[in-house]
Amino acid sequence: MKRGAWRGAVGVALAGACLGAAASAATLIHAGRLVDGVSDTVKTQQTVVVEGGKITAIEAGYRTPAAGDRVIDLKQGTLLPGLFDMHVHLSSEYNKNTEISRFKLNEADYAIDGVVYAERTLLAGFTTVRDLGDEMRETLSLRNAVNAGKVPGPRIIAAGKAIATTGGHADPTNGRARKFPADPTPADGVINSVEDAREAVRQRYKDGSDTIKITATGGVLSIAKSGSNPQFTEEEVRAIVSTARDYGFKVAAHAHGTEGIKRAVRGGVDTIEHGTFLDDEGIRLMKERGTWLVPTLSAGRWVYEQGQKPDFFPAIVRPKALAVGPQIQQTFAKAYKAGVKIMFGTDTGVNPHGTNAGEFRLMVQGGMPAMDAIRAATSVPAKFLDLDDRTGSIAVGKLGELVGVPGDPLSDIGVMERVVFVMKDDTVYKAP
Ligand SMILES: [Zn+2]
Repeated sequence: MKRGAWRGAVGVALAGACLGAAASAATLIHAGRLVDGVSDTVKTQQTVVVEGGKITAIEAGYRTPAAGDRVIDLKQGTLLPGLFDMHVHLSSEYNKNTEISRFKLNEADYAIDGVVYAERTLLAGFTTVRDLGDEMRETLSLRNAVNAGKVPGPRIIAAGKAIATTGGHADPTNGRARKFPADPTPADGVINSVEDAREAVRQRYKDGSDTIKITATGGVLSIAKSGSNPQFTEEEVRAIVSTARDYGFKVAAHAHGTEGIKRAVRGGVDTIEHGTFLDDEGIRLMKERGTWLVPTLSAGRWVYEQGQKPDFFPAIVRPKALAVGPQIQQTFAKAYKAGVKIMFGTDTGVNPHGTNAGEFRLMVQGGMPAMDAIRAATSVPAKFLDLDDRTGSIAVGKLGELVGVPGDPLSDIGVMERVVFVMKDDTVYKAP
């Protein structure tokens, strides 16, 4: 993403914020096409009226504005519900220096990066994200700041620190020299027993997390040999899930390897993230249990591309990136065809923030019709997160969380990557 482009976007956001604050009048969006996030039907030439942050009317034709009304001219484009990304990491972005950064950055550095990336994510059309793991619980503060209207960003459903096992993906001390402190506890997100598992979930409740994330198998970017070995016992997964239920948490499991995926599914997790080496039995189990797949094709593509460069990744990471990347796309195609339930999620923070919508193109390439991909990023996750009474579709009474793209995403899914209009909290952050 070009820096100049972002400065321009921020300017619009500030102008929008001023207008939003000054005007008590309505915002009228003149939409050439309207995709409501639920139905298969595309309505044409519609006016959507937002007043006080809520959709108060949806009318055929282009309503003439009253004095003081703001008109958004999207006659050449398509209006959609604000988008959901069910797998992001808002407070970091992987780069060549990530490993050394862990020794240099403090909470405040991650928090400030999170502010920047949250706005970038919002301006890309994403009004709700699930953040599946941070460094020092900074995404919980970021969530609170967005909710309080202090910083622009998407609604954040935050896991806080992910839960791993010793040496596992998300053990924050992997690869360190022994002279550095390296005895992380359940509070730090590292467990090694059923008792630890319960303690770690309860700590997240105390922290104020919204959801639980575990790393059920090895992962690509951690400093460890395997990207796919199982790293929890099934009993540990069960203990996490049953404790999570006590506190009203859903559980997301990062899982690449076949055995770890199955243990997580049998253990009762709600979503499998990546699902790279999912086999036929795993597909059957997921369908039987109603487990969701969040494919993160974007991250798979990105690590594969970076893996082509000999020096980008640490030597221990590169072979994992080359093996996992292309397989994610193949598995997604197979899982979709087999009828596994799918929600849109990118793992952005691996790939650059603001490029989230590239996932749509990869989903369509994997055989998912554009309308299903759009629903997987709107009404479907809204229902999963119990937010469907407020958002995830365009209907009277719902919040005015809306995005506009040029042209028609059903004939060219690539337009999802060129969002021209973003509205949230009665504020127009980006206007055509
Ligand atoms: Zn992730």
